[in-house]
Amino acid sequence: MLGVLGDEWTLLVLQQALTGATRYGDFQSRLPISHSVLSNRRKSLADDGLLERRAYQTNPPRFEYLTTARSRSLWPVLVSIWEWERRWVPEHADPLPAMRHTGCQAEFSPQLTCRACGEAVNDKDVVAQWGPSGSWPRSVPTSATRRRSDQRQAGLFPQTMSVLGNRWGFALLVAAFVGMSRFTDFQTQLGAPPGSLADRLSLFVANGVLIAADGRYGLTEKGRALFPVLIAALQWAQRWFHAQEGPAVLLTHRACGRRFAAVVTCDQCTRPLRGAEVAAR
Ligand SMILES: [Zn+2]
Ligand SMILES: [Zn+2]
Repeated sequence: MLGVLGDEWTLLVLQQALTGATRYGDFQSRLPISHSVLSNRRKSLADDGLLERRAYQTNPPRFEYLTTARSRSLWPVLVSIWEWERRWVPEHADPLPAMRHTGCQAEFSPQLTCRACGEAVNDKDVVAQWGPSGSWPRSVPTSATRRRSDQRQAGLFPQTMSVLGNRWGFALLVAAFVGMSRFTDFQTQLGAPPGSLADRLSLFVANGVLIAADGRYGLTEKGRALFPVLIAALQWAQRWFHAQEGPAVLLTHRACGRRFAAVVTCDQCTRPLRGAEVAAR
């Protein structure tokens, strides 16, 4: 999953594709992106089954890139990232626009709810356990996100990318959500090199995602607000990259005791959202 989502340009190209961009010129007019970066990302997204290449003209040949079921199901991840950046990262040069639910026309915030009982949930309401295919060694990517010749990032979501765009960032945050707090535990359980770990921890502390006290690291309110991003990313990954033996992580909703599957609803009209109903203000 991180190999696919851990690159900022990839997320931005996907975001534009999901809001209607299909042809080369659509992406170029919407993003400050160079020719080579756009071509590379569209090709790798097509290789990963997230975009589908289709000829729309034969002489000369011209292609457009359409979304697939796999990429269309990513909207909860993108909506969660947008919400978090908008609320918690004041450093944006231009404030990010609010999202509008076209179903009720209201400006809304996405709300995670339990599919089984319909109640709203936050991180304290959900218990995570390893499933049959889960373990730290298996869940930390073996290498950094796919190596790129063009590592320069767009710089639009730097704080999100400190979580998604780094081999240890995502694992560290998940570990913090399940209650791990000591440097030595992160090091031994995740198998993280001390240097990389120290680097990620100090960045998360500087960004206000973690707080350090008495030799322990804990999530701040801003860090806890990343819970929907993690859940949406996890659900998407388990849907599209499932292991033979079963899921890597099992989630239980404390209040109803049932298996937790997230449904994203509109906090204004309380109806479940659909990706096609989310518009920027
Ligand atoms: Zn429930
Ligand atoms: Zn609504």
